[in-house]
Amino acid sequence: MATRKRVRAKSKEPLAEYKSKRDFTRTAEPPGKAVKQTKHALRFVVQKHAASSLHYDLRLELGGVMKSWAVPKGPSYDPRVKRLAMEVEDHPIDYNSFEGTIPEGEYGAGTVMLWDRGTYAAEDGGGEASMREGYEAGDLKIRLKGKRLMGGWVLVRMRRPGRPQWLLIKHRDEYSTPRLDVTKKVLTSVATGRTMDEIAEASRPTPAKKKRAKRPAAKKKRGSKRPA
Ligand code: MN
Repeated sequence: MATRKRVRAKSKEPLAEYKSKRDFTRTAEPPGKAVKQTKHALRFVVQKHAASSLHYDLRLELGGVMKSWAVPKGPSYDPRVKRLAMEVEDHPIDYNSFEGTIPEGEYGAGTVMLWDRGTYAAEDGGGEASMREGYEAGDLKIRLKGKRLMGGWVLVRMRRPGRPQWLLIKHRDEYSTPRLDVTKKVLTSVATGRTMDEIAEASRPTPAKKKRAKRPAAKKKRGSKRPA
């Protein structure tokens, strides 16, 4: 009786949707926890993800999680170009270092590359409070300080039913240009310098590994009752 599980007061646990979609006995993605403190600069990542359709996942740290958008065409430095950014479930901050291949049959199966990472700030200097307001209002003006993405950008939420869709647009500034096709130019990982093929190759089990994996596991992993 003393060991009764503590029930969260909040009805919606942070990252509940992220966790419910994944079987962590099968994917190398991090289980993750929401984090409280944010004394450091807010972080962002962009992960190139060759799932059933290729897209770029833009993630902005906010409130201890990574707010996430799937951008099918990726970012553009041309301020005249509006890129669709479909909001997806919050991801854990640990996800910021994930690069590898999500196995066939699992949620989001396919290779993930760390395409860019760095810090960001609310453009008005108002910090996380300003970001929270912007998020609620559907108008996020940010300054990115990454290796591939720099300067001012805006995410604007469109008024449409269903899962929120936003537009990602470059602000006119010293970095904006119609002449740089950044998704075509940058084809390697910001973390490891690898291409998508190299990441996929490294994640592929070798024949020896495969054999081992097929043998029944000596130690039973607890928890997963999911049908194979
Ligand atoms: Mn994705």
